[in-house]
Amino acid sequence: MIVSNWKMNGTKADIELWINEVSNKIEYKTEVNCVICPPSCYLDSTRSFITKINSPVQLGSQEIDSTHQGALTGGINGQMLNDFSTEFVLIGHSEQRHYLNEDGVSLRAKLDSAIDSGISVIFCIGEPSEVYSNGDTKNFLTNQLDILNSEDLANITIAYEPIWAIGTGLSAKTTYIEDIHGFIKNHLKKIVNNKKVSVVYGGSVKLNNAEEILSSDSVDGLLIGGASLDSETFSKIYNLS
Ligand code: PEP
Repeated sequence: MIVSNWKMNGTKADIELWINEVSNKIEYKTEVNCVICPPSCYLDSTRSFITKINSPVQLGSQEIDSTHQGALTGGINGQMLNDFSTEFVLIGHSEQRHYLNEDGVSLRAKLDSAIDSGISVIFCIGEPSEVYSNGDTKNFLTNQLDILNSEDLANITIAYEPIWAIGTGLSAKTTYIEDIHGFIKNHLKKIVNNKKVSVVYGGSVKLNNAEEILSSDSVDGLLIGGASLDSETFSKIYNLS
């Protein structure tokens, strides 16, 4: 799976152009999902752009709220996301954990909301730089993974995104990524009875480091922010997968 996270960037016209160009440039493989997560206000039109040209690009939301209906100003629920056939949702991105004070309880509620709505989850985890420097990453990630259960894992992809690597230009080294992905997979295997869970990497992935990161057997794809906004770069990275 190769995922483009637009965060709070772009216009409706930018997204239409991106969908058209990526759809032309990628050598699409059914086993490698190609996903765009546009800003929420463009989800509906993004679905229309995809449908208009019968693009293989799939739609992901950057947001889902935990309540099913009612008094939550600005909220988006799973039923709304299903209205335009949203296939994936990002949950637990470090920016939302930080700025929206998301914790295990609120993330659990979001997971329930996505699962009840039949939307596949990309669950983001990752350690801050002080945890990385102290060599305490695995304990930190274990705590973040603790809220998952075997039912979730049937329909979930983990995105390992060290916070110190997001948007900083400091991608993690491939040997480090391999170690951490191996740890996550082994940890989750115990919960899901040896079933394989996909783990993708995110954090300053660019055209010059994507091939090496993807060459690792423990990396099942990429979640890309900044570099993915450029359709040419994103397509080239997709074609390396
Ligand atoms: C992200 O937004 O999840 C991300 C990894 O961003 P960037 O690729 O810009 O580091």
